[in-house]
Amino acid sequence: MIPYGHQNINQDDIDSVVNVLRSDYLTQGPQVPLFERNIASLTNAKFAVASSSASAMLHVACLALGVTKGDRVWTSPITFVASANCALHCGAQIDFVDIDFNTANMCPKALASKLKIAKENGTLPKVIIPVHMAGHSCDMETIAVLAKKYGVKIIEDAAHGIGGQYKENKIGSCRYSDITIFSFHPVKIITSAEGGVATTNDVELANKMGLFRSHGITKDTELLSRPNEGDWYYEQQLLGLNYRMTDLHASLGNSQLNRINEFIESRHKLVRRYQSLLANSDIRIVTPLSNSISSYHLLIVQLPNKLHRKLVFNHMREMGICVHVHYFPVHLQPYYQELGFKKGDFPQAEAYYQSCLTLPLFPDLTSEELAFICDTLKELIK
Ligand SMILES: *Cc1c(COP(=O)(O)O)cnc(C)c1O
Repeated sequence: MIPYGHQNINQDDIDSVVNVLRSDYLTQGPQVPLFERNIASLTNAKFAVASSSASAMLHVACLALGVTKGDRVWTSPITFVASANCALHCGAQIDFVDIDFNTANMCPKALASKLKIAKENGTLPKVIIPVHMAGHSCDMETIAVLAKKYGVKIIEDAAHGIGGQYKENKIGSCRYSDITIFSFHPVKIITSAEGGVATTNDVELANKMGLFRSHGITKDTELLSRPNEGDWYYEQQLLGLNYRMTDLHASLGNSQLNRINEFIESRHKLVRRYQSLLANSDIRIVTPLSNSISSYHLLIVQLPNKLHRKLVFNHMREMGICVHVHYFPVHLQPYYQELGFKKGDFPQAEAYYQSCLTLPLFPDLTSEELAFICDTLKELIK
């Protein structure tokens, strides 16, 4: 079976994890702060805070922005459920902004009109969470202008996006947002097995996220609210969680970061190959905005109407090609339907879902496999 995504692990990665196993610290040693510095320097953000997953970090980011009961958070319906769940974990209400069918990203026009109505009704969100689908940046400048106009905070869900760029800025620079979240799950661009990092340029948000991911506890003498009683002393200043990253995970992340440019180059090379092999077909590849460089976490195509997605999906799987679907709209999940969302609420997202298909894309995909995937797909169109 050709998987839809796969990690690339080399001997350096293995050695770096084994070295940590042989060291004094499995958690809270030097690897996590090093990973944070590396991500901050890669993205040109002032601060980076690591945690056990992007899902945990989305929760922490909402907590740090003060999201609580009575607040509203908006995200995209085409995303992994974690982008929406984080709001519910804070006791807030979740709502969605429909996507642009062509980019699969939050539609700035839909956002503008929804904000206008919310302002009139006194139901503005505290935070919006645009998602960079497939690593393709959202139209962040437009979204940031709207957020500023209505006094809304922005968390970028860049789980797919590390190594990408929007205009002159690296994804994660937070030039157009308060916080950006990355995931290091094995199918993403680089992996720490499990892991997530938030970047921000706001020192207070960075400190708060550091507290929330570690029980609300600090030992940092500069952050203590009372006189230091001695070396054993620490303070719990708010109610946090144990969402810490371990040094084992961070060492894998650090080692993988050495190859991030290589990984993204391979992905781009494969995408160009897909583009040329699918060029004269009815299959449309979802592509990034022209003023951005995608990390290309996913290769998503939109099938022509005449093709039944389920039949294509099943046939490709039978042929040993592990195609996938990103994503089933969050508002149609049973849990979200219980909250009152229903079919028809976000028509662009639902239409996109009907025709989207994710083809395999990962650095070790061979050109023979890629050609076989395209041939199989084109055969179905005939
Ligand atoms: C993978 C993913 C997450 C969650 O990441 P984890 O590190 O697995 O918790 C959140 N949002 C999106 C869009 C994702 O793809």
